[in-house]
Amino acid sequence: MFKTILLAYDGSDHAKRAADVAKAEALAHGARLVVVHVYEPVPDYLGEPFFQEALKRRLERAEKVLAEARERTGIPQEDALLLEGRPAEAILEAALGERADLIVMGTRGLGAVGSLFLGSQSQKVVAEAPCPVLLVR
Ligand code: ATP
Ligand code: MG
Repeated sequence: MFKTILLAYDGSDHAKRAADVAKAEALAHGARLVVVHVYEPVPDYLGEPFFQEALKRRLERAEKVLAEARERTGIPQEDALLLEGRPAEAILEAALGERADLIVMGTRGLGAVGSLFLGSQSQKVVAEAPCPVLLVR
C-alpha cells in the first residue's frame, strides 16, 4: 500500500525506534524509504567569524545524525535528505516533495520536557501532514 515512506530523524531514542519501524514497514510494503534530518539555521546576529564557525559545527553534527540514520536503515545516500529550517515545516516540505504516503517519526525527540505527551514538531506534522503519520513511542 505505501510506496514512499518518509522517516523524520533527530537522533533521539524515539527517532531510533521510529527508524526501526520505518525500515520494517518499507520492507513489508516494498516501499522506498527516505530519511530527513533538519538542522536549525544559525542566527546571523552572531557575526563573523562566529557565524561560519557555528554553521560548520552545526552542519557536521547534522551530517553525523543523518549518517547514523542511514546506517540504521541501510538506505542509499540519495535517499537521505539534509534540510535547513524549522523541523516540522521542513519535514512537511520533504513529504510533499518526495510524495511520501506515510511519515514515520517519534512521539517525542531530543527536547527536554519529559512530561509532554507529544513533542511540538510531531504535533505540527500530525496537524498538517498530507498523508498518514505513524508516531513511534
Ligand atoms: P520539542 O522539540 O517540542 O521540545 P521533542 O524534541 O521532545 O519536543 P519533537 O521535536 O516533536 O519532540 O520530536 C518528535 C519527533 O520528530 C522525533 O522523534 C523525530 O522523529 C522528529 N524530529 C524532531 N526534530 C527533528 C529534526 N530536526 N529533524 C528530523 N526529524 C525531527
Ligand atoms: Mg524537538
